[in-house]
Amino acid sequence: MDTRIGFGFDSHAFEAGAPLRIGGLTINHPKGLAGHSDGDVLLHAVTDALLGAVAAGDIGSFFPPGDPRWKDADSAIFLKLALEELQHAGYRIANVDTTLILAAPKIAPIAGEMRARVADLLGVEIDQVSIKAKTPEGLGLDHVAQCHAVALVERAAEPDELKSISAVIETQRQLEDVVEDLLTSVHGVPKKRVAPVYDTEDIT
Ligand SMILES: [Zn+2]
Repeated sequence: MDTRIGFGFDSHAFEAGAPLRIGGLTINHPKGLAGHSDGDVLLHAVTDALLGAVAAGDIGSFFPPGDPRWKDADSAIFLKLALEELQHAGYRIANVDTTLILAAPKIAPIAGEMRARVADLLGVEIDQVSIKAKTPEGLGLDHVAQCHAVALVERAAEPDELKSISAVIETQRQLEDVVEDLLTSVHGVPKKRVAPVYDTEDIT
């Protein structure tokens, strides 16, 4: 399978006095998001989307809320772990799309800066990250920030991976040569060489 998809959701209640952190940015606002970590609802949703894409569990299984190590933690740490899991599974990000749902503050004026920050944290280009926002119309949840995120990931052709593939092909060729020599010596007729599925030169 060359592509996989992951989905993430998160929510945190607004709380007076705490700094507001969304998408790796500190936003000037009278209320922040309550949480064991820095409450970055967008980074948490993206983390779960990435972990989900490679079926590697969720943010809570890696970072239990009761663990004092993650008290007020920068959520970029969670994202970093998700990226490591993704790499370990042999995948890389194709694109990430998110929707924030919150009454205030307005995200549109800072969406560009937020996309740049998240792209930076993910190690991808800004056009691979989408951040949209809407208000919680009719939900009665003006005191809460929610975020939905989807991530499409694609199989990465790591140099190490390619090396091992070509090593296997080389071994197969040597084996075929030995078989051919044996057949020639026994029957006096060279065995017809079977063409490999693809040539190593094709792997760029
Ligand atoms: Zn969260």
